Amino acid sequence: MTSHVTHLESALDGTRFPAGQVHTIHQGRPLWVRYDLDAVRANVTPADIARRPPSLWRYRELLPLPSEVEPVSLGEGMTPLLPCPRLGASLGMQNLWIKDESQLPTGSFKSRGMAVAVSMAKHLGLKRLAIPTAGNAGGALAAYGARAGMEVFVFMPDDTPIINQIESHLANAKVFLANGLINDCGRVVREGVQAMGWFDMSTLKEPYRLEGKKTMGLELAEQFGWSLPDVIFYPTGGGTGLVGMWKAFAELRELGWIAKDPKMPRLISCQSTGCAPIVRAFESGARFADLFEGAHTIASGLRVPVAVGDFMMLDAIRASGGCALTGREERILEWMKRATSLEGVSLCPETAVCLDALETMLADGRVKPDERVVVFNTGAAQKYPEIVRLALPRLDVTKPIDYTRLNTEH
Ligand SMILES: *Cc1c(COP(=O)(O)O)cnc(C)c1O
Repeated sequence: MTSHVTHLESALDGTRFPAGQVHTIHQGRPLWVRYDLDAVRANVTPADIARRPPSLWRYRELLPLPSEVEPVSLGEGMTPLLPCPRLGASLGMQNLWIKDESQLPTGSFKSRGMAVAVSMAKHLGLKRLAIPTAGNAGGALAAYGARAGMEVFVFMPDDTPIINQIESHLANAKVFLANGLINDCGRVVREGVQAMGWFDMSTLKEPYRLEGKKTMGLELAEQFGWSLPDVIFYPTGGGTGLVGMWKAFAELRELGWIAKDPKMPRLISCQSTGCAPIVRAFESGARFADLFEGAHTIASGLRVPVAVGDFMMLDAIRASGGCALTGREERILEWMKRATSLEGVSLCPETAVCLDALETMLADGRVKPDERVVVFNTGAAQKYPEIVRLALPRLDVTKPIDYTRLNTEH
């Protein structure tokens, strides 16, 4: 075999495109990668997969990179599915897990997408890549680009978290800070394609990042013993995470690796009150989302006022019986502290928004206390040092320490 990809297909109107070539978008909208799932089923079983190394490449038959091609890899391991009894109890629920993506290379789930997208870009002969980013995607592309020996241009808002600026710079990307948001950076990349000869790696404008992110759904199913939880909370910006997971579940169902007619999980797409275009579109019943004016949130990964994959997100949310819901911007720090102090998980501000939404849905009965709920922690708190301001007590070690005070000074 080389790969099981049969063709690509417009998510908007089904127009087909041949496999094994460079592709972008069709009529401004994304493409799906389609596989010969009968051939996959004939070639590999869940038991075979269980014996492979714990990385996203264990799902090789469901990925686009031909089997004889070496992936561009930073050792992207499977991420733990952590039961969270203390956080769950504090919310009044019994079955809460966090799928902790913060342990991936560059500290976010963006590495899944970039491992596959950069592997494909290299395989297809691309040499120069450019990306607009809210932060973590740029850092991940810079790292995988460096690993592949490719040239990378990164465009980010000038108030993007400093770690994202540093990691991109250290990986030798050409980093530019823009006085606008990710969609403004997107225009710079799009309009520079001719002049600069780069390939546009924007979310969902090349088809393979989605395939990498799909592995979150494959991994989740495997970790649940080839079944699925009742509800999934996912922080959504550009939408590849949510849409990729839904695609994974559909492929697994077709393969027969999960029960033919299972209750599919309800997808809860979580956004901040400071930037919630998908929530607005969901509530209005629209299939496409309007630009969210004045977007502001410290959850930088969610600062995406407009997304080309909006309809793919909204279709998946609705098909799942889930919803799109905001978490309150002003409670982000409180949830980061609460989750990390109760469970030790390094919770990113994007996922903090999910916990606020989960609390809302438990209170109004849309999530029952005994349902099996998985919250995705998409990144590491360490990537956002500027949002926490600390004033820890000082200790003068040149003088005798008054130990009795240490109990009360915190
Ligand atoms: C990018 C990002 C998101 C949003 O993911 P999408 O796939 O763009 O919807 C959420 N959390 C973190 C930490 C991110 O970096």
